[in-house]
Amino acid sequence: MKQEFIRNFAIISHIDHGKSTLSDRLMEATKTVSDREKAPQLLDSMGVEQAHGVTVKSRTVQNHYLGNDGHEYQLNLIDTPGHVDFNYEVTKSLSATDGVILLVDATQGVQAQTVANWRLAHDLGLPILPVLNKIDSASAQIEETEQQIIDLDPSLAAQEIYHVSAKTGLGISELLEAIVHELPAPTGDEKAPLKALVFDSEYDAFKGVIAQVRVIDGSLTKGNSLVLMANGQKLLAKEVGVYRPDRVPADGLGAGEVGYVVTGIKDPKQVTVGDTLTSQQAPTKAPLPGYQKSQPVVYAGIYPVGDYKVLQEALQKLALNDTSLVLTDDQSEAMGPGFRAGFLGIFHLQIIKERLETEFGVEVVVTAPNVSYKVQVAQKGKEIETVIVNNPTRFPEFSQVLAVEEPMVQATITTPNESVNALMKLADDYRGEFADMGNQGDYVRLVYKMPLSEIAYDFFNQLKSISHGYASFSTAAIGYQEADLVKVDVQINYATVDALSFVIHRSRVEEQTQKLVHELKMTVPRRLYPMPVQAVVEGRVVARVDVPPLRKNVAVNGSSYSISKKQALLRRQSANKRQAAQSDIELPQAVFNTLLSLN
Ligand code: GDP
Ligand code: MG
Repeated sequence: MKQEFIRNFAIISHIDHGKSTLSDRLMEATKTVSDREKAPQLLDSMGVEQAHGVTVKSRTVQNHYLGNDGHEYQLNLIDTPGHVDFNYEVTKSLSATDGVILLVDATQGVQAQTVANWRLAHDLGLPILPVLNKIDSASAQIEETEQQIIDLDPSLAAQEIYHVSAKTGLGISELLEAIVHELPAPTGDEKAPLKALVFDSEYDAFKGVIAQVRVIDGSLTKGNSLVLMANGQKLLAKEVGVYRPDRVPADGLGAGEVGYVVTGIKDPKQVTVGDTLTSQQAPTKAPLPGYQKSQPVVYAGIYPVGDYKVLQEALQKLALNDTSLVLTDDQSEAMGPGFRAGFLGIFHLQIIKERLETEFGVEVVVTAPNVSYKVQVAQKGKEIETVIVNNPTRFPEFSQVLAVEEPMVQATITTPNESVNALMKLADDYRGEFADMGNQGDYVRLVYKMPLSEIAYDFFNQLKSISHGYASFSTAAIGYQEADLVKVDVQINYATVDALSFVIHRSRVEEQTQKLVHELKMTVPRRLYPMPVQAVVEGRVVARVDVPPLRKNVAVNGSSYSISKKQALLRRQSANKRQAAQSDIELPQAVFNTLLSLN
């Protein structure tokens, strides 16, 4: 297809503003999917996405649109994930587009993720087509929302803001014309050597790694000998094609087109997103500017409730299609064999846990997440060494610890005026160091230096709730900094439960450990005898409560129980007695959630 008839774009929006519904409407209007195939939210095929209403893995769709000018256009819609944990993935997919639709729910107005996504698109220099959705709703606030969009990006004041209802289809044909006339066509060099951007990849059990590509210059044909420029990996294009929305083989992809290449490569790690694909015979001179590789931000232990092998298989399958999930084997005294996993953020962790449960039927216990620390260790007769610790269990003995460094980020918060004071207090509470402040249109930009551990868990939720969803937040890693951090061990019945250990700042020890033991009192399974639960820091008990014993013979004393219920209760009590005879205590997920709810 001639480039002037191609449009590559993405829809960016806050969660629930109607991105998936609009994608479905566009596919329907261009007959990419027939009515028979119509199912709600075609692109959100993963179970978790349906449950959360969040798109996790991006998908691309080629639509054919007959414009009012009589030309046939190829509209490639590149789907982006909709959550801050996946910003890296959003940037990846945005780099394959030539413009974006900024979709705003007219009943909600501009929200935190609207701002965050707008900023990503803006920073990439992408043209923006503003669109109001849900105008069928009685509570749509059209003028107010338009004003918010212009406040966010004053350059949009000169543009028409389109109005649609993704639900009823109102305004969709006007929007299709706007995509054709207001978003730019690609402008690659068709005659130059092949230069294609790998912006995503998927793993197929039969075909191996399938790379999603945007051809920038030249063209790519089935059977071509290709090379990935970053690592020199050679491959043969076994199959080339497009997504409609399922994979449909084609002869090739021309300059400006988006599609897939079956690489035949079996190891997903060999295909790095952001890499440049070129021809072996006639390579392009310079690769495209690469992406930074995604690095795990938080780590947590994952242990099976049932069979270890089943969990292992499920996690390995998940990791094939999600290269940002990093896995290593782990062995815990309390929990047995399991895995140490690295995630892009807390939301990513939750998604993986849910996919294990819903897609694979594997029940797991996930420990409290942590970041990675650099610890300087001095051992007698040995040189001082620095160890990286991403599992609190492996935190060195305190008497050997010389210094601890934690990862820091530069956090940029953009917020409306009225939330500035409350957000400054929040950043303060999370050990933030104020760095800079300035105005950006109607918004205030606050810059803080913050420990990653403080913002990795629930800072984002707090920020959203304080600012009623208006503040947005972005971070950049700025290396490690020394801090007074200590490891907290938790003992139940005088035995240290390794999987419950965590690392915190010394100034928080008192308050957090008191809170912790009191909450553990409610979640640790009771025994027939009272059991002490204590928090230990540097060999000292800093907090303690007793988990009260189970009441004896509750069933017999309670006259309102039926005979069979009494018997059932008595049976359960004797089962508890057997359990008590064993030294180990079964820890339900609730116990680990207690650690998560600290702060
Ligand atoms: P996403 O999270 O941005 O992908 O949003 P969805 O497409 O999943 O939509 C979120 C909710 O808004 C769903 O319940 C949709 O049915 C609803 N919705 C989407 N578009 C419209 C619209 O134009 N009008 C109304 N009334 N509801 C809509
Ligand atoms: Mg969606």
